[in-house]
Amino acid sequence: MTATDTPSSTTSTLRPGREQTARLAKRVAVGEGREMKAVTSPLKGEVIGEVPIGTAEDVAKAVAECRRVQKRWAATPIKQRAEVLLRYHDLVLEHQDELLDLIQAENGKARVWAFEEIMDQAITARYYARLAPRALKSSWRLTALPGLVTATENRIPKGVVGVISPWNYPLVLAVSDALAALVAGNGIVIKPDSQTPFTAIRAFELLEQAGLPSGLVQIITGPGTQVGSAIIESSDYLMFTGSTATGRTIGAQIGERLVGYSAELGGKNPMIITADVDMDRAVETATHGCFANTGQLCISIERIYVDQAIAPTFSKRFAERVSALTLGAEQEYGPEVGALASKAQLDKVTEHVTDALDKGATLLAGGKAREDIGAFFYEPTVLTDVTPEMDVYAEETFGPVVAIYPFTNVDEAIRLANDTEYGLNSSVLCGDTAKGKKIAEQLMSGTVNVNDGYSSGWASIDAPMGGMKASGMGRRHGRDGLLKYTESQTVAVRSSIAEKLQSPGKDAQGYAKRFTSMLKAAKHLPR
Ligand code: NAD
Repeated sequence: MTATDTPSSTTSTLRPGREQTARLAKRVAVGEGREMKAVTSPLKGEVIGEVPIGTAEDVAKAVAECRRVQKRWAATPIKQRAEVLLRYHDLVLEHQDELLDLIQAENGKARVWAFEEIMDQAITARYYARLAPRALKSSWRLTALPGLVTATENRIPKGVVGVISPWNYPLVLAVSDALAALVAGNGIVIKPDSQTPFTAIRAFELLEQAGLPSGLVQIITGPGTQVGSAIIESSDYLMFTGSTATGRTIGAQIGERLVGYSAELGGKNPMIITADVDMDRAVETATHGCFANTGQLCISIERIYVDQAIAPTFSKRFAERVSALTLGAEQEYGPEVGALASKAQLDKVTEHVTDALDKGATLLAGGKAREDIGAFFYEPTVLTDVTPEMDVYAEETFGPVVAIYPFTNVDEAIRLANDTEYGLNSSVLCGDTAKGKKIAEQLMSGTVNVNDGYSSGWASIDAPMGGMKASGMGRRHGRDGLLKYTESQTVAVRSSIAEKLQSPGKDAQGYAKRFTSMLKAAKHLPR
């Protein structure tokens, strides 16, 4: 839509109101008179606000301003930068109701899953605030001539970090990676998805309230091919979260510039359930692992491999539990499942289920759109008898659909779980956790959760998280998730004794002999 094509309704029955979204839209870093795009809530199909459609020229200006402020920020002591994150931690918890409203209004998810985003912000802000002063401190490194040559490893911020984020976790995926980049001394130029811009804008506003210099974070809304592309062309490092297809396109573009790139992409995540599992726990954990966030979660489970000895009981109990899940469009705690985020999402889910049923799959639960609740609601769906000809077998649905496959032995389950181009997340549900860990080690995915679907792996914030194979490159979380936003620099200082020792002079043979003896001796020194 354009500025002249303003939506007829200027009010919304959802929280936040139109005045609040209009105020937030003013914080987008664009020039005067840009066309506007309506943001429609998937909860009730109402327009909740509009954001400007940015241009490449806007990105160029934003990057220049970010670069200017970043120089000052990089010179700010790490401890002070970390304190900003700790104040942000408190502000997020204080303002959680307002953030939950924004997340629900833009994305359509049930409030309980929006709360996961609040928890993630607090955990991530606290973790990186505490890690950064230790991990970014210059440190001594061993040299070939210890004591005679000294070496220091420094960590220097990259400069301007570009962030391109999707719509499924409007707070987490726009802000969490940025927190690590910011505490490392970088500035941020971010393009949140046009479906979910307001949560990100409000969160970065809270970061400024916590002490982040104004202008260090530049937010620009607009299409990926225009705004995203301009960010790729001008940032010093890129953090992308989104689909594997887009990740490949961006990888080719950024590769030309020889700029670092971290990509968190799609998945087709398997869960293996062994015969010794506690059935009640398995049913509950699988339900959470498949249908949290309406299944629009890169790490949620879309394939369940269950031991044939317990497959009939598990399938029946699981289908009953899934059928009893409550759907709702309220901006309150209560419903267990919210809306899909858009018509495109509803169409994809409908196509996958229809294609599977047309080709002979069996429906155990769900299988219907629920327009009576809201435009983009779809029942949590369980399928079985799914075969490779069906789209749902290997393609990511990214919605509330899971297929159950019985297996005869664990080796077969591991082989089938690994038989995918993806490698993001997996799960093993079992009675014997030692056995579960052995299975986990054979699964080719960046995270594996034993007796959980996805939460434990994600919330293990000190450990790296990311995808193998076509599910990504680079990692978020842990030290990797911080150090990737820095250049490592080695400063080596040679003493005058080392200078004499290292110079062959006219006696090259004596030099070689001297160093041979030193190398032999060095092998016997303690490490
Ligand atoms: P998408 O790739 O279509 O879009 C993601 C972002 O990239 C959006 O902001 C979009 O505007 C932008 N974009 C699109 N084309 C671009 C281009 N050519 N240049 C620059 N930017 C461009 O993904 P989506 O449909 O919004 O998100 C769903 C996908 O994201 C799923 O595949 C899901 O698995 C994946 N995802 C992965 C993770 C993870 O951590 N691994 C997390 C969430 C979502």
